[in-house]
Amino acid sequence: MSTPTPTNVFEYAPAPESRAIVDIKPSYGLFINGEFVDGNGTSFKTVNPATEEVLAEVAEANDADVDEAVKAARRAYTRVWSRMSGAERAKYLYRIARIIQERGRELAVLESIDNGKPIKESRDVDVPIVAAHFFYYAGWADKLKYSGYGETPLGVAGQVIPWNFPLLMLAWKIAPALACGNTVVLKPAETTPLTALLFAEICQQADLPPGVVNIVTGAGETGRAIVSHPDVDKVAFTGSTEVGKAIARAVAGSDKKVTLELGGKAANIVFDDAPLDQAVEGIVNGIFFNQGHVCCAGSRLLVQESVADEVLERLKRRMSTLRMGDPLDKNTDVGAINSGEQLKRIRELSEVGDAEGAERWEVACDLPTKGFWFPPTLFTGVSQAHRIAREEIFGPVLSVLTFRTPSEAVEKANNTPFGLSAGVWTDKGSRILSMANRLRAGVVWANTFNKFDPTSPFGGYKESGYGREGGRHGLEAYLKGADQ
Ligand code: NAP
Ligand code: MG
Repeated sequence: MSTPTPTNVFEYAPAPESRAIVDIKPSYGLFINGEFVDGNGTSFKTVNPATEEVLAEVAEANDADVDEAVKAARRAYTRVWSRMSGAERAKYLYRIARIIQERGRELAVLESIDNGKPIKESRDVDVPIVAAHFFYYAGWADKLKYSGYGETPLGVAGQVIPWNFPLLMLAWKIAPALACGNTVVLKPAETTPLTALLFAEICQQADLPPGVVNIVTGAGETGRAIVSHPDVDKVAFTGSTEVGKAIARAVAGSDKKVTLELGGKAANIVFDDAPLDQAVEGIVNGIFFNQGHVCCAGSRLLVQESVADEVLERLKRRMSTLRMGDPLDKNTDVGAINSGEQLKRIRELSEVGDAEGAERWEVACDLPTKGFWFPPTLFTGVSQAHRIAREEIFGPVLSVLTFRTPSEAVEKANNTPFGLSAGVWTDKGSRILSMANRLRAGVVWANTFNKFDPTSPFGGYKESGYGREGGRHGLEAYLKGADQ
C-alpha cells in the first residue's frame, strides 16, 4: 500500500490566522528600568523562519547595557520589590496573568511569526500555560512561609532562555522569581526576542514598578555578560548542555545560586499491551510537537519487538496525515524549523544516521520554497551506539529501537547522558509504577506525553541539568532556604 501524502488525504482551504492583530515595530530597544532604551546602538535582525522575512531590528546589549539593567534590578529589589508584602506582589502577578489572557491572541500570533511554531500550539498550549504559570505563582507570593524553602528572596536573578518556547520559558523563569521577591534581568534567544519585548510592554501596562523586570536582547555574549555579572545573585539558564556546562564553570567559586535546564533524549517506551492507536498519537505528539524543538521530546522510540511492525505501520500512516506549512494556518500540525542554523544541525545529524546504517523514512510532502523546513522523519535499524540515538537532534526526527523485556527497556532508556523525561505506554498500572521507579528521568509520563502544568515540577538528572521549575519545588531556586 502506498503511503498517502498530506495533500491527498484531506484537502483544506488555507485558514490562516490574521496577523493584523500584532503590531511589529521596525526596531526595538532594550527594556531597562521600565522603559525602552537604545543601549549602545548595535542591533541584530529577527526573522520569520517560515518566510525568511526580516521582522525587526533588535538592540544588542553589551556589557555596559547589561550593567545598567542589573543596576536597575538591584535598585528595584532594594527599594521596592523585596520590601513589598507578598500579597502586594501577588496583585501585580495576577494583573500580568490577566493581561496575558486578554492579549493571548496577539501573543500567540507573534510567537508563531517569530518562532515558526503552529498557531494551534502557541494559541492552545504555550500562551494558556504562560498565563497559568503567572496565576499559579501569584498564589504562592503571600504563602511562602508554607513553601518549605523560607521566605527570603535571593536578590537579582539573571535569566537566559532558549528559542523553542520563548514566552513559556520566560514565564517559567519570571513568575517564580517575582513571586519570591526577586527582580530579574532576562535575555531571550537571539532568534525569538519579540514576545519577550511584548511581555515588557505588558509589564508597563500592569504598572509593574520600574526595574523589577528588565529584558535585554542579544546573542550569546549578552547571556555571558548577565551570568558573569558580579551583582547577579542567581543564575537561571535553559538551553544546551554545552552552554550550561560553560555557565557552571563561569559561576563556580562565586556564591551565585544556579539552576540549569538542559538537553534531553527521552525514551518513549511502548509495551505490547499498550492501546496502540493512543500510543501512536503519543509518539507523534512526543516528537513532532513544536517541530521536535523540545528538550523533553520523545526522540527515542523504544517499542516492544512483538508489536514493532504494527506500531511502525500505524505510525507511518499517522505521520502521513500531518500537515506541514504556514505556522499561522490553523490546520498546520508541523511548522518551520526555527533557524537556518538549526536546520543545518538537524540535516547534519540525520546524515550521520544514514552513514551509520540506520534506515530513513520521511513523510512525502512538498516543502515551501522559502523558509526553513524539515519533514517529519523516522529512522529504523537504530542501535544504541548510533549518534542519532545518543545526541539531541532537536528537530522532527525519531530514532526507533526495539526491546524484548521490561528490563531491557529500562537499560536502553537509561543508557544516555541525559535524564529529563520518559514515556511509558502500557495497560498495566503496576508496570507503570515499576518503570517510573527505574527510569532515571525527571518526568515520567504514563500513557500520555508532553503534558505540562504549572503545579508540577520539571527538571532533569545527569546532563539534563539540575534544579526544578514549576510547582512548589520551583520556589526553591529563588529563596534562600528554610534556615536562613
Ligand atoms: P543555547 O545555544 O544553549 O542557547 C540558550 C540561550 O543561551 C540563548 O539565549 C543563547 O543566546 C544563550 N547563550 C549562548 N551562549 C551563551 C553563553 N556562553 N553564556 C550565556 N548565554 C549564552 O541553546 P538553544 O540552542 O537556544 O536551545 C536549545 C537547547 O535548549 C536544547 O539543548 C534543549 O534541550 C534545551 N532546552 C532545555 C529545556 C529544559 O527545561 N531542560 C527547555 C527548553 C530547551 P543565543 O540565542 O544568541 O544563542
Ligand atoms: Mg525569529
